[in-house]
Amino acid sequence: MAADYKDGDLMMEGVKLATVASVMGTPVYCYSRGRIEAAYRAYEDAFACLPGTMICYAVKANTNQAVIGTLAALGAGADVVSEGELRRALKAGVPTSRIVFSGVAKKPSEMEFALKAGIYQFNVESEPELMALSKVAARLGLEASIALRVNPDVDARTHEKIATGKSENKFGIPWRRARACYRLAGSLPGIRVQGIAMHIGSQLLSLEPYREAYSRLAEMVAELAEDGIKLESIDIGGGLGIAYEDGTVPPSQAALAALAEECLGRLDARLIIEPGRSLVGAAGVLLSEVIYVKSGESRDFMIIDAAMNDLIRPAMYDAYHGVKPLKTKATAVRSYDIVGPVCESGDTFAKSRVVPEVKAGDLIAFLGAGAYGAVMAGTYNSRLLVPEVMIAGDSFGVIRPRPTYDDLIGLDTPWQVIDEKEERSA
Ligand SMILES: *Cc1c(COP(=O)(O)O)cnc(C)c1O
Repeated sequence: MAADYKDGDLMMEGVKLATVASVMGTPVYCYSRGRIEAAYRAYEDAFACLPGTMICYAVKANTNQAVIGTLAALGAGADVVSEGELRRALKAGVPTSRIVFSGVAKKPSEMEFALKAGIYQFNVESEPELMALSKVAARLGLEASIALRVNPDVDARTHEKIATGKSENKFGIPWRRARACYRLAGSLPGIRVQGIAMHIGSQLLSLEPYREAYSRLAEMVAELAEDGIKLESIDIGGGLGIAYEDGTVPPSQAALAALAEECLGRLDARLIIEPGRSLVGAAGVLLSEVIYVKSGESRDFMIIDAAMNDLIRPAMYDAYHGVKPLKTKATAVRSYDIVGPVCESGDTFAKSRVVPEVKAGDLIAFLGAGAYGAVMAGTYNSRLLVPEVMIAGDSFGVIRPRPTYDDLIGLDTPWQVIDEKEERSA
C-alpha cells in the first residue's frame, strides 16, 4: 500500500500524513501521484508485448481532475460511463481519440455530446441502444464507431455486487444474440462496426475467469470473421484486483498481459484495456480522527469522524480496508468495531478489528481508499464532501477543497412554482 512508517510516522512518499491531517483537518483523502504513475507504467510495460494497446483508465474509480490529468499526461485514454465523466475526461486533457463510452443506459443527449466530441468508440450494450445510437448519428450526419459489449456468462468469482459478466447481470449483449446483433449493426445508418468489448467484473484475484472470457471472445471473433465481419479493436475491460488485505496477491499486470497475448494476440486487432481500481486504488488513503472510544456491552467502539457516506465500500460490499495509526506510539493492541457518526448501523468500517490501542484525538488511515472512495461519497446526514489531496515527493497540494456549509445548503433553492407551458416553449 502507499503508506509506510518512517521514524514512527506514517508517510506517503516524502510527506507525513499527520501533517496533511493537521493542515487540512479530517476526514481527508490523500493520493500518491508516484504510486498512480507507477501503476500506469506497470500496465504500459506489461502490454508492450501487444503493441498499440490502448490503456483507457476507467475514470469512475476516481474522477478527480488531478488524478485523470496525471494519467492523461502519461498517455492514458479514458473509459467513461456518462456525459459527466466524458466532460471530466476531456477537461483533464484526455484526447477524444482515446475515449471509449461504456454503460447500459446512454441517453440520446449523451450520445449526441459524445458524437460531436468525436470519441474513439461506443461500447454498445443492447439492441435498443444500438437503434437509438444509429438514429442520433444519422440525424447529426455523423458516424458512431461501435463495439458490442458482449456478456460472456463467466463467473468472475468476486463480490456479487461487482460481478458483471454473468448472464443474470444487466451488462452486455447476451452471448447467443451477439452474432445477430453484429449483423443488425452492419445494416444500420450512422453505425461503423469497429470492435468487441467485455468487462466481467471488478476486484478479480484470479486469472481463470479472464482465461475463460478471453477464450470465448476469441471464438466470437472467429465466428464473426466467418460472417465477413473483421474487427479492429478488442476491449477486454478492467477488473484486476488489488491487495486490500495483507497476504492477498493479485495477478500481476504482466501475467494478465501474457494471458491476453496467448488468447487474443493472433487476432490482429488493437487491444483496449480499461483498468480502474488497479491504477488508483492502492495509491489512496482516507485519514480520520478518533472522536470517542466507547465501551459497549460486549465490545469497544472506535468512533471516528469519517463515515459510510465518505467511504461506502465496507457498508456496500463488506469490503476490508486496512487501518493504521498515523503515529506508532501504542504498544498494546485492542479489538474495536470501527464506526462513523452516521445514524445507521451499517456505518461500520470494521468489526472486531485488532489494531494498536487508540484514544480520542488519535489519527488513523484507511488504506486502499484511492478507488471507489471519494467518487462514491455523498452528503447524507448533511456531512460535507471530504477534501482530496495529492502528494508528490515531499509536497502535497489540495485537489479538492472541503466545501463550506453554505455550499452544501446553498444547493437548495426556495420553493418556486414552475410554469409548465413556459418551460415547454423555452
Ligand atoms: C468499472 C469498469 C471498469 C473498471 O473496473 P476496475 O475493476 O476498477 O478495473 C472497466 N470497464 C467497465 C466497462 C467498467 O464498468
